[in-house]
Amino acid sequence: MKIACLDVGGTTIKSAVVTVSDPADIKSYDLGAFSFVPTEATKGFDRIRANILSSVSSLAEKYGCDRIAVATAGTVDWDSGKVTYATDALPGFTGYDFCRDLKDVFSMPATVINDATAAAVAEHCFGDPSGRDVVLTLGTGLGSALVKPGVLDADCVEDLHLGHIVLHEDGYVCKCGNKGCAEQYVSASALKRDSGVNDISQVFTKKELAKVKADFFENMKKVVEYAISKYAPDDVVIGGGVVEIKKLWWNDFTSLCDKTGKTVIRPAVLANKAGVLGAAYSALCGKFKNQ
Ligand SMILES: [Zn+2]
Repeated sequence: MKIACLDVGGTTIKSAVVTVSDPADIKSYDLGAFSFVPTEATKGFDRIRANILSSVSSLAEKYGCDRIAVATAGTVDWDSGKVTYATDALPGFTGYDFCRDLKDVFSMPATVINDATAAAVAEHCFGDPSGRDVVLTLGTGLGSALVKPGVLDADCVEDLHLGHIVLHEDGYVCKCGNKGCAEQYVSASALKRDSGVNDISQVFTKKELAKVKADFFENMKKVVEYAISKYAPDDVVIGGGVVEIKKLWWNDFTSLCDKTGKTVIRPAVLANKAGVLGAAYSALCGKFKNQ
């Protein structure tokens, strides 16, 4: 089976064919080379849609795909594949019946899910699909999801909003309106703000930034400990751009964490492949009412 897979973000549309031999085993999903086109979000909905459709067309023509699987920014209704909310990153996408549109245009099965959900599903299934995992994603903000074992349906992945637990009363103002939210301290953006450098690897290598590193570890530890005490997961999986430079800091961080409990703290392993692999896996193994 060949799946035309897209990862639609506000800046770039990534696409690749995924060839699957065993739908139940994500390790058997063979991901082809990525193609990248700019989303061109500032040019509006019609242009974004045209870029999406041409990405699907080129994969379908080149590989003779059987179906389409999309991971996209924005809130997506699991059962219908409709975008229920999108920020200005994807103008005009709020209310877009994404899945229906793809089916109408290409006359093949299609599924659309949220990109963070897709990534969490992929990291979960690549580890141990029978466990309960909290997946944290450190990027511009701090994403978080609980992935439960069993049926891959609307209830399987829960957004935990851990980015907005308050770590510091009277701390930095968050975009949600509260003060001191976790994502103001545990994200790539926070590291850039606190270090004053754009290349965040310097936080973990420069002596003069040791305080920034120590504070970052302390705050991330609080988030991880909160997740463990509240959700008792088998694994806490940490991903996002900061984890792509994990060799600079991972061992230092985990040496600070309590390892007496059953929860394993592990780095995400799929990096920028997680979105499309999670979309492909969900397309074949997910339960949807109207997709
Ligand atoms: Zn907040």
